[in-house]
Amino acid sequence: MSNNHRKQHLISPYEVAVSQLKKAAKIMNLEKDYFEILKKPARVLTVNFPVNMDDGSIKVFTGYRVHHNDARGPSKGGIRYSPYVSLEEVMALSMWMTWKTAVVGLPFGGAKGGVCCDPSKMSEKELCRLTRRFTYAILNMIGPERDIPAPDVNTNPDTMAKIMDTYSMIKGYSIPEVVTGKPIQLGGSRGRLEATGRGVYFSVLEALKYKKMSLKNCTVAIQGFGNVGSNFARIMYENGAKIVAISDMWGGIRNDSGIDIPKLIEYVKNNKKVVDFPNSSPISNKDILELNVDILAPCAIENQITEDNAHNISAKIIAEGANGPTTPEADKILFSEGVFLIPDILCNAGGVTVSYLEWVQGLERFSWSETEVNRKLERVMVQAFNEVLSKYHSLNKICDMRTAAHILAIQKVVEATKLRGIFP
Ligand code: NAD
Repeated sequence: MSNNHRKQHLISPYEVAVSQLKKAAKIMNLEKDYFEILKKPARVLTVNFPVNMDDGSIKVFTGYRVHHNDARGPSKGGIRYSPYVSLEEVMALSMWMTWKTAVVGLPFGGAKGGVCCDPSKMSEKELCRLTRRFTYAILNMIGPERDIPAPDVNTNPDTMAKIMDTYSMIKGYSIPEVVTGKPIQLGGSRGRLEATGRGVYFSVLEALKYKKMSLKNCTVAIQGFGNVGSNFARIMYENGAKIVAISDMWGGIRNDSGIDIPKLIEYVKNNKKVVDFPNSSPISNKDILELNVDILAPCAIENQITEDNAHNISAKIIAEGANGPTTPEADKILFSEGVFLIPDILCNAGGVTVSYLEWVQGLERFSWSETEVNRKLERVMVQAFNEVLSKYHSLNKICDMRTAAHILAIQKVVEATKLRGIFP
């Protein structure tokens, strides 16, 4: 287990999520009853299910699907495959989805799912059988009007195609709207694959404007080079930023004159990792976070910026492409040191925004062009960023952007809960 992963377990993501909720609740004087409703997920399912392995054995996997809240609409959230998936992690991620959909104003609640497995040690066929059996196991939790999964760490459009097919086979007819992030041929939206990275880019542009900085030649370090990190890197590179360091779970690379991102993307297609990329020197996952850059974008996993390293962060802006990369203790340090942080529930909301657009296109049986999708995404991201910024200013900067975003989101969820009333 790497240091990163050992650290990841020091404070559980759910403790982080509840601590963020408490902080916002205190500032906004949230009634205790509503705090209690929001603290716990509404519905939790744990499944243990068998899968036939290629060597003839049967392996039992554990998976989860959690609905945190559906006051504002059907719940929505990704499915991740990783050896570090736990119920606490999925519960935290589902709560963050509730806030994320509310911050950007989508008519969804929050959910998340995950299977504890190591996809790097499984064949494509084993992963396909795992996806189909997991879908069967959580069948009653999901549905186009109920809860709509999407890709997350180690899952992709192909995984969504298998979920959609399994669900449709059991229901007896094709129901593409049960998932988003599907391949375009199956009703996926143009622009969805890169939407999270593009959304991070739009939030960074707004932050640069606010900080009176220019994108041209601004220096960037990115932790994580999967869907979010690689698309963010490419779009930043295409628009003139200088990406000086990139890492993934196997290590990092650095080039102070700027990394050629299209070449790196090609290199990673063939080599599966960024290490040993030509014209670069190695850098560790620890050091990449502390580089003296304009923008630091953690785009990998939780608990990367902690009280141990927050004092050493030199970036002017942190753009949280990942969910939960910063702990509450680190938040306090970064705020006191004047680092401008774009919180995950705002910064990486581009993915769920285009998922919403995909869901709408699916239900209405039409499709928008990529330009149209990107235009709508930009409008949503810019508006949400500025709403959070206004909230931050209206609170006289007594709290950070994260807490301002949480307050905005919680207000919307509580308002919906009050309008609906408590059943029965
Ligand atoms: P991915 O599986 O495509 O990529 C994950 C990347 O992180 C890989 O490069 C991997 O090597 C790297 N990584 C994993 N563990 C690491 C470690 N310990 N140190 C450094 N790097 C490590 O996943 P993704 O979809 O890009 O998701 C990344 C993050 O963004 C997650 O926190 C996810 O929840 C969040 N997110 C994803 C989406 C989406 O649409 N995919 C949307 C919103 C938020």
